[in-house]
Amino acid sequence: MRLFSLVLVLVLLACSKPETPQKPDSSAEVVADPVSVALPDSEWAKHGLGDDEQRFSSLDQISPDNIGNLGLAWSFDISTRRGIEATPLMVDGVLYVSGSWSIVYALDAKTGALKWFYDPKVPRSTLANGCCDAVNRGVAYANGKVFVGTYDGRLVALAAETGEVVWEALTVDQSQPYTITGAPRIAKDNIIIGNAGAELGVRGYVTAYNIESGDLAWRFYTVPGNPANGFESKVLEMAAKTWNGEWWKWGGGGTAWDSMSYDPELNLFYVGVGNGSPWNQSLRSPGGGDNLFLSSIVALRPDTGEYVWHYQTTPGETWDYTATQHIMLADLSIDGKERKVLMQAPKNGFFYILDRVTGELLSAEKFTVANWASHIDMDTGRPVETETARIFDGVNVIIPSNGGGHNWPPMSYNPNTGLVYIPTMIFPGNFKAPTRDMDRLPRQSTYNTGFDRTALVPPNVPDIDEIFASQFTGKLVAWDPVTQKEKWSLAPGRPGSSGTLSTAGNLVFQGVQENFVAYDARSGEQLWSAEVQSLAAGSPITYAIDGEQYIAIAVGFGGGIGAEAGAISHAWKAKNRSRVLVYKLGGSHTLPPVAAEVERPIPKPAPVTVSNERVQEGLVLFQRHCSFCHGDGLRSSGLTPDLRWSGAAIHEIWQDIVRGGILESRGMVSFGQYVSAEDAESIRQYVLSEANRVYDLDNL
Ligand code: CA
Repeated sequence: MRLFSLVLVLVLLACSKPETPQKPDSSAEVVADPVSVALPDSEWAKHGLGDDEQRFSSLDQISPDNIGNLGLAWSFDISTRRGIEATPLMVDGVLYVSGSWSIVYALDAKTGALKWFYDPKVPRSTLANGCCDAVNRGVAYANGKVFVGTYDGRLVALAAETGEVVWEALTVDQSQPYTITGAPRIAKDNIIIGNAGAELGVRGYVTAYNIESGDLAWRFYTVPGNPANGFESKVLEMAAKTWNGEWWKWGGGGTAWDSMSYDPELNLFYVGVGNGSPWNQSLRSPGGGDNLFLSSIVALRPDTGEYVWHYQTTPGETWDYTATQHIMLADLSIDGKERKVLMQAPKNGFFYILDRVTGELLSAEKFTVANWASHIDMDTGRPVETETARIFDGVNVIIPSNGGGHNWPPMSYNPNTGLVYIPTMIFPGNFKAPTRDMDRLPRQSTYNTGFDRTALVPPNVPDIDEIFASQFTGKLVAWDPVTQKEKWSLAPGRPGSSGTLSTAGNLVFQGVQENFVAYDARSGEQLWSAEVQSLAAGSPITYAIDGEQYIAIAVGFGGGIGAEAGAISHAWKAKNRSRVLVYKLGGSHTLPPVAAEVERPIPKPAPVTVSNERVQEGLVLFQRHCSFCHGDGLRSSGLTPDLRWSGAAIHEIWQDIVRGGILESRGMVSFGQYVSAEDAESIRQYVLSEANRVYDLDNL
């Protein structure tokens, strides 16, 4: 039927005077003019839509005039209950979505019917190899194949038609805590994938494989290895001159875990490089140095992996200031001159415009609050750090925090408004130098930042949730990249928003906590909102089938907000209802109602049986080994168990869990290598102490 009416309208247009055909009644099933759907962007076949990753679609059927009629067309329940961060792809009528544990779902893009799913069977014991949940940010598509990077470090090519494995390549040393959460990218004959794990002591790199055969084409290491083993290239020999000490014992970091983009015309492939391992540079590279290519954008030849240029956003990185945030390419008129630019808003809070031919810095301004540097010196291209930025004797409150002024949620660029839509965050981060050996020694497989994480324990004050709500915020910012100024921004709300989608309908779509929202791209006025019943963190896309425009988003609570930032999201307790949600004009599908929450009172805990000193020791050990999953100061988001609610049965088998690893299949691996039986008991006593405190407050 739809096809018929589309043909009819086209015939009418061709035969009659160029008058707008009668618009259907707004209450009718079809509420917009189907011919206005431009065909070029009917699919969403690449992660960022185009190789330039602008995430701007020319589809304009859905507009500010009719968005009130946007409704759910269909939904698909994802079976896993962890974070969802994917950008779906839509190719030839099929929507490809990756869920947690790197599971791929192929769905009919019009109806949501499951075509196939692929489960790479990632061992759940690998959960603790990553910082921020077993998420996956998307698949790639080329030549009838769908590619997924798995959490345990494999790259798998699937037949798009059936989901059958065509080839599989192991991209990491699985004895080390490498993970893959990012989307692979296609450039020429290659599929290129990075990895993650800089918090856990690995050395970063990106690898290219031949799309058809899966053969390794090239590998580019982002940081130098041990000089005694010889350097892989002259470029790494050069990079090693910017390092001191025995950095390789710490891994060095520099993992390229998310952003990449590609300019086919220039034959350049751009990679965003992550933070140092450990964060604390005075341990990683005593005496300083720029530590190339940490926190850099590196331009490579996509066919050979040959280095062409780099720009380092944060020399001597020490605050987890990755440059793995979204890299976007555009042609802009800067100072009256047409420039081929590259744009990035990395964690460090500055919006960078580079000449993407040469890597030359064209401009950089703060897009959010940043107290670690005053500005970027345009002569040297380097940040001018504030005097106290690297003083960690006491607790140094640095903004942005390690969470960044902007993290992985992608931006989008609307060439009609000339604005970049950035999901920003404003968090303070507490940095404190370590006083204990366990924070000063290279260690893999446990969160190894080189800072004292007791600085992150929230104070025991009754209104801590309100304090956190006011201190940890996020907001959408519309940024003019030419003038490097904010055009508009929204009122700050809770952090944890999704990436943005821009359309030629002059709309910006974004997941905002438990809602999926559309704004007017010109003014920021909120035009539409839909409840999604979970965290709307996946990045939205749009596509068209049979003359109808669809908007898709994958949702599910978890990721960094659920894991690493557990203390912040503690009072939030968003629920994981992982789904793919697809909207269209006139859509009338509804989600099942959500059952009322039942408060679970804290069970009466056993008394603390050790000294206060030992409880404090337990706190230190907990922060060192447990907090990045179970929440700073035991404030878990609920994604990982809130240990204060542990019943007597859990306390009875505490040693078996913490050291014996009996819950390994659920992601709680053994910490026996790092935690003695006495340590485990100290942690347990700290948990009891905090459980008693909460119990007493609840039962006043
Ligand atoms: Ca990091």
